[in-house]
Amino acid sequence: MYFIRSPRWLRWMYPNLIWEVPVEKGEKILYLTFDDGPHPIATPFVLDQLKIYNAKATFFCIGRNVADHADIYKAILDQEHKVGNHTYNHLNGWKVKDQQYIDDIAQAATLIDSKMFRPPYGRIRRFQAKVLTGDIQQRSANNDQHFSIIMWSVLAGDWDTNITGEKCYENIVVNAEPGSILVFHDSAKALERLQYALPKVLAYFAQQGYQFKALPY
Ligand SMILES: [Zn+2]
Repeated sequence: MYFIRSPRWLRWMYPNLIWEVPVEKGEKILYLTFDDGPHPIATPFVLDQLKIYNAKATFFCIGRNVADHADIYKAILDQEHKVGNHTYNHLNGWKVKDQQYIDDIAQAATLIDSKMFRPPYGRIRRFQAKVLTGDIQQRSANNDQHFSIIMWSVLAGDWDTNITGEKCYENIVVNAEPGSILVFHDSAKALERLQYALPKVLAYFAQQGYQFKALPY
């Protein structure tokens, strides 16, 4: 089970995490993010779609996928998008020891130069979050980076094989507002729904006068 729109109580429980970007009144800006790449088919597809609309986005990459697809990772950066750390092995913070989690992120950071981190599955313990943001100092040689932890405002739900691409499109269109952080996945699992929904989302909001920007962290 998951929430398409991150609920108020969840944001309230984790106020130090980033759930949306403050925008000026009247500013029409959305923040597209893509998790779990780079992927040899999905990521180039996303890059081509973004190019059509001169849209910039943020890609939360898995370290091992960066290692496997260094050329695609480079293409993301060459096209002036931003990247974030999404662990090396896509670990669930609730299921692994804190030190293992922190070390896995440090390993990903050797490949991904970014001050942004997004927890896989959105699951992160308070302690882990505090170490990553620097609220708790940890004695560890390879943990001198401090991150902004980026959650989201609206999920497309594109990884969910029980819903259609049309539903993913609706999830975004119904729930997005200025400053929203939107989540898609450049992954094999999401590909079919991504290919349907992303072009429609870009077209819809471009028509409404929105700009798509990379996250400002
Ligand atoms: Zn993920």
